[in-house]
Amino acid sequence: MRCYECGGELKKTKGTHHYRESGLDNIYLKNIPINKCKKCGEYEIEIKNTEELHILISFALMLKPDALIAKEARFFRKLLGYTEEQMANALGIKRVTVSRYETSDKPLNLERDKHLRRFFLEKKGKKFVKHPFIRSVISTTIEKMPSKERRIEFDPEDWAVPA
Ligand SMILES: [Zn+2]
Repeated sequence: MRCYECGGELKKTKGTHHYRESGLDNIYLKNIPINKCKKCGEYEIEIKNTEELHILISFALMLKPDALIAKEARFFRKLLGYTEEQMANALGIKRVTVSRYETSDKPLNLERDKHLRRFFLEKKGKKFVKHPFIRSVISTTIEKMPSKERRIEFDPEDWAVPA
């Protein structure tokens, strides 16, 4: 294989890729196969199973303790394959509202954030359970839990089945 920019020789290597293509600013992929040009430094990467990767990113966003920001809200919508219009209809809000929170400089307000996360969980939650890495994260969390008996409390609302 040759570099499409300069025709130089490509070297297969592995490295970290700042995954801006996700539309997010803080996603980095480690140990990614990279074909790097020895001559001009241009490189191409190979990312497999992008759908699974995006599910994993969405899982990380679901666990984010702070409010979602505009780009993250858009990431959720794109992963659902919805247009702004479809998203607005699904959430029962105006299209202009979707457009506004997806471009705002400020994080989403708490109600909007929760609404969006719950909706996403409802739509894609099954994918989480099937995802090997996510399963291992959950299993590890369970393993790390103290074995000592602890008091566990439930309130009737916790086991109420929605009508
Ligand atoms: Zn090159």
